[in-house]
Amino acid sequence: MSAERFDTIIVGARCAGASLAVHLARAGQSVLLLDAARLPSDQPMSTHFISPLGVSWLDELGVGAEVRSMSPPSKVLRLDLLGTALDVPFARDRAGHCLRRLHLDRLLQEAAVGAGASLRDRTKVVGVIRENGRVVGVEGGEGERAHTTYRANLVVGADGRHSTVAQLVGAKEYLGYDNPRFGYWAYWRAKPAWKTDPELAPFDAYIGFFPDHVIRFVFQTDSDLLCIGAMPLMADLPSWKGRHEEKYLEALRAAPVTAKLTDGHRFEGKLLGLLAARYGFHEAVGPGFALVGDAGLHKDPTPGFGITDALRDARNLARAIVAGGELAMQRYWRQRDVDSIDLFHFARDLADPGYVSPLNRLVYERARKSPAVLARLSAQADREISPYEVVPRGTVMRWVLGAALRGRLSVVPSLFATGRRNARVERARQKRRALVP
Ligand SMILES: Cc1cc2nc3c(=O)[nH]c(=O)nc-3n(C[C@H](O)[C@H](O)[C@H](O)COP(=O)(O)OP(=O)(O)OC[C@H]3O[C@@H](n4cnc5c(N)ncnc54)[C@H](O)[C@@H]3O)c2cc1C
Repeated sequence: MSAERFDTIIVGARCAGASLAVHLARAGQSVLLLDAARLPSDQPMSTHFISPLGVSWLDELGVGAEVRSMSPPSKVLRLDLLGTALDVPFARDRAGHCLRRLHLDRLLQEAAVGAGASLRDRTKVVGVIRENGRVVGVEGGEGERAHTTYRANLVVGADGRHSTVAQLVGAKEYLGYDNPRFGYWAYWRAKPAWKTDPELAPFDAYIGFFPDHVIRFVFQTDSDLLCIGAMPLMADLPSWKGRHEEKYLEALRAAPVTAKLTDGHRFEGKLLGLLAARYGFHEAVGPGFALVGDAGLHKDPTPGFGITDALRDARNLARAIVAGGELAMQRYWRQRDVDSIDLFHFARDLADPGYVSPLNRLVYERARKSPAVLARLSAQADREISPYEVVPRGTVMRWVLGAALRGRLSVVPSLFATGRRNARVERARQKRRALVP
């Protein structure tokens, strides 16, 4: 039997793959969207936060209104370092949303089918077909259809952090590293205190850094549920073994915000966990293939930008595919790296135990009182400026000098460490920029 032919085959039908399918089908392409999972179904490896920028791309895809109607707005993110809190409102009164992936992915899959893409779930891709060194199709399926072949001008891997397509095409990893943390999270029915307690009411999302080096987070999802989690360092993993639920509850109850939300309460459903992950970039294009979403770039999820960036890169990849030609595809790859490199490093910095430093403590204390810095934090939360540009260098120097003169000398060594790290990021940024054709 001859293989079915398409302009583009996309492997993986969630936020990266389904949104790419919408763009391409709208541009008139014949698109086959394959997914190993039975759909619609949940993507449990997510805490669901979509930034305001991501929500505006969901508007473009035609699902923004439903996302807004199904999940409450998150207008203020609280960053809490050792009890010093920065409440960061998104710029221009914009809001993020945290619709659970069960719903978000379904909306995107429906939009893809509505735009004309063919969606086949329970179709696991196990091989790529090559001709003259170029990928020209895939092989996959389930049961009787286990070895079905599909051919296309381009095969896109949107199949997540353990991408089969990336492995099959031999896309090389760069800047890779292993997650220094593990994490557990669960869904808790929001107590009335969530919106009435004066300590909790000012914010809608929360990330906290503590002396025990366990990061705690709270995101409000749909259906009055809060996603509440703890991310300890890998060194703590042995002590959590076999006691993960007890340790998770202990970790939440040891910090004020998560304690208020969970004391005397019980989470719903299962406790979810991520015990190991590797972050890094993969070569995003090659002969007959491209990668998008986590398949091509997997970054530490602490700042909550995997979905937003998957939507961004799907949009840019669609433009490159429609424009056609090697140069457009190379540009897509290299621009993705330029757009991502700062946040990639910043996500790594946040997860590093060194983030809880005397210098960052000083920065949080001073930033609270600086409307200019708070405004820049808002702009950063909406990806308008780099996380490394939030506090201008001269301002940091002034704050450090002032603190040192008052005897707070502990900030000085961490200033040097931060300076060295920021210089490394600057070099990485310049290197990525130089590669854009
Ligand atoms: C604990 C955790 C919390 C996170 N929280 C957030 C957050 O709050 N905000 C945020 O923006 N990001 C978050 N992220 C990151 C976010 O979940 C990912 O960036 C996002 O899911 C990437 O989407 P994707 O479409 O690339 O891949 P995925 O969502 O992983 O989808 C890949 C799809 O490919 C399919 N597939 C895999 N292999 C095959 C195959 N061989 N054949 C066919 N189909 C296949 C899978 O079935 C799956 O449906 C979090 C991640 C983790 C781990």
